[in-house]
Amino acid sequence: MIDKIKALLQEVENMKAANADELEALRIKYLSKKGEISMLMNDFRNVAADQKREVGKFLNELKETTQTKINELKEQFENAQVVQNDLDLTRSSYPIELGTRHPLSLVRKEICDIFGRLGFSIAEGPEVEDDWHVFSSLNFAEDHPARDMQDTFFIQHNPDVLLRTHTSSVQSRVMEKQQPPIRIICPGRVYRNEAISYRAHCFFHQVEALYVDKNVSFADLKQALLYFAKEMFSADTKIRLRPSYFPFTEPSAEMDISCNICGGKGCPFCKGTGWVEILGCGMVDPNVLENCGIDSKVYSGYALGMGIERITNLKYQVKDLRMFSENDVRFLRQFESAN
Ligand SMILES: [Zn+2]
Repeated sequence: MIDKIKALLQEVENMKAANADELEALRIKYLSKKGEISMLMNDFRNVAADQKREVGKFLNELKETTQTKINELKEQFENAQVVQNDLDLTRSSYPIELGTRHPLSLVRKEICDIFGRLGFSIAEGPEVEDDWHVFSSLNFAEDHPARDMQDTFFIQHNPDVLLRTHTSSVQSRVMEKQQPPIRIICPGRVYRNEAISYRAHCFFHQVEALYVDKNVSFADLKQALLYFAKEMFSADTKIRLRPSYFPFTEPSAEMDISCNICGGKGCPFCKGTGWVEILGCGMVDPNVLENCGIDSKVYSGYALGMGIERITNLKYQVKDLRMFSENDVRFLRQFESAN
C-alpha cells in the first residue's frame, strides 16, 4: 500500500492542468468521494495494526499535497483570467503622437533666448491698446499715416481704442512705470489693416528690444545687433546698417544681414544683392523718453524691432506667410525635429 501511496504522490506532484475543466477532472480523480485518495482511506481499515502509523502518515501527506497542488493550480487560472480581461500583452503599443512647436514660437523663443543672454528680460503688454501708448507717446505726429484707418484697426469707431500696430507700445508702458536701467524684450502679436496675401497678413508677430541707461550709445546698439545676427544665423554672418526713419528713434537705421542662403554671393532670395533686410533700430528719440517720464539729459537708449515671420522665413524659407496661420499639420509637422 505504501508503494501505491508513493506512486500517487509522485503523480500528484507532477500534475498539470491546461484549463479549469482539466483541473476539475483532476480534483474529482483524486479528492472526490470515489476518488483515488478516498479509496485508499477506505482500504486503510485493512492495514495491519503495526503498519497503521506509517501508512497513515503517508496517506495524510498525499491528501495534503493533493489539496495544496489543486489550490495552487486554481489560483494560477484565476490570476490568468484577471490578466486576460485587463491587459492584452500581445497588443502593440498605442501610436503616441507628439505635438510640435509652431515655427513662429520656435523662432520667438530663440530670439528671446539670445537677448536673454545679453541681460534682457521679457515684458508683455495688452493687444487692445490706446492711442497714447501706440502712437502719441512714441512721437507719431498727429497726421502720421500709420494712424490712418487704412492701417489701424480701431474698435467701435472709437479712435482711442485700437489693436496695437507694433509692440513698441509695450516699451512706452514699461518706461512709464520704471526708471532706468531698463533692458527689456517684448514679443507679441500685432495687427494691421492689410489685405491678406502671400506676403502680408492682418496680424503678425514682432519682437522689440529696448535698452535705456546712462551713456547708452549707438556703438552698444551695433554690438548687440552683431551678436544677435551671429547667434541667430551663423558665426560668419555680417551686418550692415542703412539710415532710415522711424518716429520713435533718432537716428534710425535698418539692418541687413549677409544672405544666409547664398552666403552673400547673390541669389534669387536676396535678389542678387547678397544682403537681406531683417530689422529696424535706432537711438530712442529724447521726446519718447520725456513722454514716458525719463530724463533725456541723463539717460539715453536704443531700440530695435523685427518681424518674427521675417526671421522665420529667413531660417526656414517659408514662401507664403498665410501658412503660419492655417494650422495645416502637413506644414507644422516639418518643424518636429526643431523642437
Ligand atoms: Zn542670397
